Amino acid sequence: MLSLVIATGNAHKVEEFDRMFAAAGLHVAAHSAKIVGGMPKVVEDSGTFAGNAMLKARALRAVAGDGHWVLADDSGLSCDALDGAPGVDTAVYAGPHATNEQNRAKLLAEMSGVPDGRRTARFLCHLVLLGPGGECAEFTGECSGRIAHAEAGRGGFGYDPLFITDGHAVTFAEIAPALKDSLSHRAKAFAKLVKHLKSLGC
Ligand code: IMP
Repeated sequence: MLSLVIATGNAHKVEEFDRMFAAAGLHVAAHSAKIVGGMPKVVEDSGTFAGNAMLKARALRAVAGDGHWVLADDSGLSCDALDGAPGVDTAVYAGPHATNEQNRAKLLAEMSGVPDGRRTARFLCHLVLLGPGGECAEFTGECSGRIAHAEAGRGGFGYDPLFITDGHAVTFAEIAPALKDSLSHRAKAFAKLVKHLKSLGC
């Protein structure tokens, strides 16, 4: 069983990864960074999802003991009409302590007046896997769509009530969770990670 420490202080994220590994039939146990003393503080200032995921992975690798692999992720939303914003600031778009509601309100305000044809956007996810022997692998996932003119739906989280993925007429907050899980940026990056871990014999 490969022991993988997830670079997050969020227990829900660890559970989500653990469930996904089990569902994929992998012999991988996902652990919270608590088992290596907690997730070190990281200033996520690289300016890219890839760079921020690598900063988190390296910080955790530095404190994880031998025998542990580490996995870090960074994700967010990029809108074409806003030159890629909110981008790496997705979680703190409306300020350092912004709620999801405040972030969505800011996005709607910034997008007000943007016509349908220019409301294209995508969720992006970058995963970094580091091994105890210096192994390094990265995986990306992208989910494209557009920003709605108003919030709709009560499901999902974050920006889901504003995001309509390509080929669908309703927001991520209105579709079944299992369907979102099969379409999301995270699911696509995760599928590549699973393939890689299987190639390592997990
Ligand atoms: P994190 O890096 O996964 O913590 O996410 C960064 C930001 O992107 C947070 O504001 C999340 O709400 C937002 N985000 C990431 N994935 C999704 C998603 O699938 N739906 C809606 N918002 C998301």
